[in-house]
Amino acid sequence: MNDTKTAWIHDEIAQLQAQGLFTHIRTLDSPQGAWLVVDGRRVLNFSSNNYLGLANHPRLIEAAKQAMDRYGVGPAAVRTIAGTMSLHVELERRLAAFKGVEAAITFQSGFTANLATIPALVGRGDVIFSDRLNHASIIDGCRLSRAQIVAYEHCDPDDLRRQIAATSEYGRRLIVTDGVFSMDGDIAPLPELYEIAAEHDILLMVDDAHGEGVLGRGGRGIVDHFDLHGKVDIEVGTLSKAFGVVGGVVAGKQVIVDWLRQRGRPFLFSSAMTVPDVAACLAAVDVLEESTELVDRLWQNAEYFKAGMQSLGFDTGRTQTPIVPVMLGEAPLAQQFSKRLFEEGVFAMAIGYPTVPQGQARIRVMNSATHSRDDLDLALDIFAKVGRELGVIA
Ligand SMILES: *Cc1c(COP(=O)(O)O)cnc(C)c1O
Repeated sequence: MNDTKTAWIHDEIAQLQAQGLFTHIRTLDSPQGAWLVVDGRRVLNFSSNNYLGLANHPRLIEAAKQAMDRYGVGPAAVRTIAGTMSLHVELERRLAAFKGVEAAITFQSGFTANLATIPALVGRGDVIFSDRLNHASIIDGCRLSRAQIVAYEHCDPDDLRRQIAATSEYGRRLIVTDGVFSMDGDIAPLPELYEIAAEHDILLMVDDAHGEGVLGRGGRGIVDHFDLHGKVDIEVGTLSKAFGVVGGVVAGKQVIVDWLRQRGRPFLFSSAMTVPDVAACLAAVDVLEESTELVDRLWQNAEYFKAGMQSLGFDTGRTQTPIVPVMLGEAPLAQQFSKRLFEEGVFAMAIGYPTVPQGQARIRVMNSATHSRDDLDLALDIFAKVGRELGVIA
């Protein structure tokens, strides 16, 4: 139906399709895990953020079931009215202890954690220094705040210094960065950013979505990884990636958490995390605190896969984490590569412009503790076959 009000949308979609940029959404018909049923095919999974296998872990499932029997399903209110259950309070206490901070507050997602936090800390007349490659939810949080946004070059403390020196009109100031950058797998230079923030007395915020449950001792995150306890003002995390459930968390100083309970808009105006989500997250904390086994296996798998790809001759970019980009260049090649992998039984996404810069299209491989050594060997064989077929490796 081409009515005039929506004609432009038809045009936009047609254009995306013509450029090969229209996202085809694949449908899963299995639980998360090393193997998935995707669009009716059984494939080896390298696309999920299920780093530790917790998304389908028996202990999380059992905890969710038991909590539902006791407390029901929905929160039926926002946190500040009638939506705070003892389960939420318990999860926040446990997350704060796990991360070694004064306090923590949970949100419905990592995305809403950023939308809550940034506008609560800065506003009109203030300035935010933001890494050029920060996640969309940070960018949106910055925009919502109405503060001036100054982008500094990716992971470049020297450029951050220059930008700070060049900014003279401001009220409050905030430096914000992703912890792990999700398209390249590189890690923010947090110790240097901390030095700069401390020197200039600027609030420092890190969004550790891909580091939570991955970096640091037993997955305690980027602050633990760099041993910066007590030095980073705001640590945002997600419960939707390594934690295997859904939700967001802000960990840090008590006073900041207290303030977010008063002024974090998604906390005040959007309903609380659901009962099964909270209970499953509590079980995830139990699993992480009891043993480093899953985190250790994740890193062993990632190192094995990365070394295998490099010895085949693939360019794995600047990754320092279990996210392994396979750099291919142009978007159509990446699309073709991903399609051929899928036909051979490997599910790994092609990422192109505008998610990554033009000419830097890639396959993004998400490693996981769920993969066996046989799974990884099979994946390496298939990458080698497709890579030779498409002339990427010799
Ligand atoms: C994935 C991600 C988010 C969003 O987290 P959700 O819990 O899925 O909303 C936020 N920030 C960064 C850096 C991310 O990678």
